Amino acid sequence: MSLSEFALIERYFRKVGAMRTDVELGVGDDAALLQSPPGAQLVAAIDTLNEGVHFPPGSPPASIGHRVLAVNLSDLAAMGARPSWALLALTLPKVDERWLEEFTGGLSALARSHDVALVGGDTTSGPLSVTIQILGHVAKSTALLRSGGRPGDKVFVSGTPGDAAGGLAIEQSKLQASSEAERYLRKRFLYPSPRLALGDCLRGYATACIDVSDGLMGDAGKLAHASGCGLELVFDDVPVSEELVSAVGVERARELALTGGDDYELCFTVRPSEVGRLQHNLPPGRWGYCCIGTLREAPGSIVTRGGSVIEFSHSGYDHFGA
Ligand code: ADP
Ligand code: MG
Repeated sequence: MSLSEFALIERYFRKVGAMRTDVELGVGDDAALLQSPPGAQLVAAIDTLNEGVHFPPGSPPASIGHRVLAVNLSDLAAMGARPSWALLALTLPKVDERWLEEFTGGLSALARSHDVALVGGDTTSGPLSVTIQILGHVAKSTALLRSGGRPGDKVFVSGTPGDAAGGLAIEQSKLQASSEAERYLRKRFLYPSPRLALGDCLRGYATACIDVSDGLMGDAGKLAHASGCGLELVFDDVPVSEELVSAVGVERARELALTGGDDYELCFTVRPSEVGRLQHNLPPGRWGYCCIGTLREAPGSIVTRGGSVIEFSHSGYDHFGA
């Protein structure tokens, strides 16, 4: 190691992210001292990205820094919570200063844009692996859970899922498209936008919410299951981007939207009687979400087209699946 561990921490980790007045003691001591707002519940989540599993070897370091925070922010968005603080556990094969510069640059830019402070972490050597633990807050008893849906609730998704799967395929040279579409889709995989503003506004409207990380159909199915319901999705209502359609055609685009991973969009349910109020106060065109189906009594997930059930087997990425 060319830099001492101490110098490395001073140089790369002390000034990452936002400065916040609720950080009484940040990077540098044995632990951080943080002041939660009175009356709020602390919300905690953690996610790891491993090289070769969650990102291709040789991925841009700025993207790895952005994504490891984005996936955690997305979990807080799905809870309707606001993020405050992050801790970073970093395992590096070697100290590569240029890599660290770019990695912390990507991490810090996203952290600042959401007013998140990096308050601590751990640095070790080994195969490249990055973990963020995120801490945030939500007013007591207002968090969005997966379990609040009931039969008849309408199912919504934000954004255009499937783009990240298209972007990953382009990164892996498995897909080609116009240079404009390639740029857009790669960006959607490398630099996802966690839907914190939407999650924050959905408190009081959504009965249940989940972030879409492992494929829309699988994750919407998890929400339905946690709510004690089944799921019906309408194939032709699944939103897809022009760019993805231009790259793979509309049929395959909708399949990717249902089964591809790494979208970090929000899937949420709303009582049918509340849909009007939702759409009035959060106009779908401005907020970028649309209705894709319904929760139902019968367990399990189905996809329909023109009123009939279609065969649809893939249900998302499972790390330990076959
Ligand atoms: P300790 O041995 O007490 O765990 P460390 O030497 O691991 O202390 O860390 C010293 C300080 O640097 C701590 O405040 C820790 O939170 C911080 N730190 C270490 N690695 C990182 C990192 N990758 N990102 C942010 N802070 C870090
Ligand atoms: Mg330590």
